[in-house]
Amino acid sequence: METFSYVKVPTIDKALGSASQAKFIAGGTTLVDLMKLSVEKPKTLIDINLLPLDKIEKLPDGGLRIGAMVRNSDLAWNADVKESYAVLSEAILSGASPQLRNMATTGGNLLQRTRCAYFREPSAGMPGGYGCNKRTPGTGCAALEGFNRTHAILGTSEHCIATHPSDMCVAMAALEAVIHVEGPKGKRTIAFADFHKLPGATPNIENALEPGELITYVDLPKPVEGAKSTYLKLRDRASYEFALSSAAVVARVESGHIRYIRVALGGVGTKPWRSHEAEAALMGKPANATTFKAAAEAAFAKAKPHKDNAFKVELAKRCLVRSLKTAAA
Ligand code: SF4
Repeated sequence: METFSYVKVPTIDKALGSASQAKFIAGGTTLVDLMKLSVEKPKTLIDINLLPLDKIEKLPDGGLRIGAMVRNSDLAWNADVKESYAVLSEAILSGASPQLRNMATTGGNLLQRTRCAYFREPSAGMPGGYGCNKRTPGTGCAALEGFNRTHAILGTSEHCIATHPSDMCVAMAALEAVIHVEGPKGKRTIAFADFHKLPGATPNIENALEPGELITYVDLPKPVEGAKSTYLKLRDRASYEFALSSAAVVARVESGHIRYIRVALGGVGTKPWRSHEAEAALMGKPANATTFKAAAEAAFAKAKPHKDNAFKVELAKRCLVRSLKTAAA
């Protein structure tokens, strides 16, 4: 870990008036790990734990506003979230451990970084170390020919195949959340689908935040009347483990037919993966095993497995079929 300065700020204005090369720190459950590994080397840490962004409030239009500082545990156990956005509660509770969820914040979870072992190797992207374009653009990608069992099969590029690790984000993708940010140039909103970036030729750019911007809130739209939602996560062990495959489904079934459907996938994509292909295969169709199987085939028709992770294609299809069965039941 390298030397850094630390400042605790009481207001958003003070946080935004911060020094360059600074990082905001809230729960610290990702950032501190990455600083210890020399992946992150901020010159200044701006502690935002005093900011008044820790509320969950109903919006006049029936939606829900989640402050960026709301802890993952508080969000998962919130009565409105459990009742109207079950997929989000289930996704959060499937991740990390109770201790981590008590510390981790909503804003921080949006910014989780990959668990690719090469990326987290202290010398990655440095002379003599593993190539990692995400750490140091132009140094290559050790995972392409290395051990890539947990890596992505959707949204990859020749420059990076790292999997996005968050469960919460998969649920928020299915719920079509909207992210509010505030920065030196003012306030703006970002649709969830536009927040995380595909790696392309610049895997070092992971999201749509501009320098100095702070996530302030996440809005969830009004719950879809009559819809059920669910999150299924498959992993190597039953707790404290990242997804090999997961599926978030929001579905409304009427008279045996699917009238509303949103599908997002985790553990398989380089970003929280909204599957428009699966949705197109489901919308208006009978809610039965044939339809669900067709949706799973559509979702992974363009999957690109690597030498150690071809098993994910079948695993992820089964994960999606099971989630659809649960949501449509
Ligand atoms: Fe780095 Fe991405 Fe390759 Fe992992 S998959 S080594 S994060 S470039």
